[in-house]
Amino acid sequence: MCGVFGIYGHPEAANLTYLGLHALQHRGQESAGIVTSDGNQLFSDRGMGHVIDVFPPDHIARLKGPHAIGHVRYSTAGGSYLKNAQPIAVDYAHSSVAVAHNGNLTNADTVRETLEERGSIFQTSSDTETIVHLVALSEQKAPEDRIADALSQVEGAYSLVCLTPESLIAVRDPMGIRPLCLGKMPDSGAHVVASEPSSFDLIDAKYVRDIEPGEMLIIDKHGLRSLRPFGDAPRKSCIFEYVYFSRPDSVLDGVSVYEARKNLGRALAKLHGVEADVVIPVPDSGVPATIGYAEESKIPFELGLVRSHYVGRTFIEPQQSIRHFGVRLKLNPVAAALEGKRIVVVDDSIVRGTTSRKIVKMLRDAGAKEVHMRISSPPTKWPCYYGIDTPTRGELIASSHSVEEINQYITSDTLAYLPMDAMIESVVRAKTGPTKQSRSRLPVLQSEKPLSKDSFCVACWTGEYPIAFTPHPGQRQMRLLDL
Ligand code: AMP
Repeated sequence: MCGVFGIYGHPEAANLTYLGLHALQHRGQESAGIVTSDGNQLFSDRGMGHVIDVFPPDHIARLKGPHAIGHVRYSTAGGSYLKNAQPIAVDYAHSSVAVAHNGNLTNADTVRETLEERGSIFQTSSDTETIVHLVALSEQKAPEDRIADALSQVEGAYSLVCLTPESLIAVRDPMGIRPLCLGKMPDSGAHVVASEPSSFDLIDAKYVRDIEPGEMLIIDKHGLRSLRPFGDAPRKSCIFEYVYFSRPDSVLDGVSVYEARKNLGRALAKLHGVEADVVIPVPDSGVPATIGYAEESKIPFELGLVRSHYVGRTFIEPQQSIRHFGVRLKLNPVAAALEGKRIVVVDDSIVRGTTSRKIVKMLRDAGAKEVHMRISSPPTKWPCYYGIDTPTRGELIASSHSVEEINQYITSDTLAYLPMDAMIESVVRAKTGPTKQSRSRLPVLQSEKPLSKDSFCVACWTGEYPIAFTPHPGQRQMRLLDL
């Protein structure tokens, strides 16, 4: 759960990166960072919190140069400390490099142990730092070769943007687990790279294409080059990006997230229809699926829950006497839409079950006659090791409870999940075709791994992990804490 952004060759690189990161804020709210290059030196600034708070105008002004990368972080590996904020920027024997990473490496602990035995001193507990060490140690000359060499030694999910004084290098892991796409500023011709194309809209950049699984793009004064430095691997893009994580205004690998979610809702209505008076979403992520459900079932869509967008990460907890406080900070029922009604509630997933339980109770308290919960993905049974923040297996309610038991726990009248094949089919059907990609004058690669039904990582539902990982007893502890 992180977002990355990069731009090469624009006089306002830092400012545009700031805006690009702002549009990716949903991918991580814990820390934000920008590194720029003036062609000679790197300038780095990072802080804890939201992009808008970390970068007041005077900070942006200090980030000099026409090239930049940025990162928003939600920690999935390594604790929540400023030291772990990205991009990680270092000087090494031959040059400087900054790295911003979305995804999780699955062998970072093993690689780190080996490096530490050889004397490497790590500054962070983040898996990304192993890449930086491997780049510094590489015997290759060109930065792109050093980066390819480093990445050939790590396993897992990575969508990376790297900045050297002279170049911007973007890489997507061979399975394409996390998204990464390329755009271009029409006036300046500057290239941009981002986790999601919705961040291009804010800066008026045009989406060019997705970066292919296993592809490395080098953007420098000679233009843009594409390399395939890694061996072949099956495409396994994270389908949860479509179900929950990405913004609905993004198109990832040719699939509109919005259309995919509407299809999920339609499929839910077809497979798990129920007599009801209104269908309501759990906002915001549940909204497009609910539109699809309403269209298919002909049950009217209502806004039964209102979401506050101003919830920070910390708040002063009141006494126990305020019921549903945690969830009510975010969601509040609209009695006018609910009173005396039979309600279908659509959400994208149940993790621990605590939110759903509180929502059902809140809806009943607001006068709902019946509450039918519909989930636009299968039961989440397994943790993600590739960059989505999920709790341990024991905390995932569906890993140890049947659908009926979960229904009883969350106190809904009925509960139904979308089956796996219907979920995959809904996403694949939302493919938008090559129209958007052909708008650019840049050479468009013929995708070697077009999306199909087999293209997705669905490990959080099946436990079939496409990349092996070595479970380790716990998160690496930082023994030196800079406060
Ligand atoms: P829970 O109360 O633990 O069952 O949380 C369920 C809610 O969390 C649903 O409304 C989901 O939209 C949302 N959700 C699902 N996955 C995640 C995630 N990785 N991080 C944060 N929220 C999530």
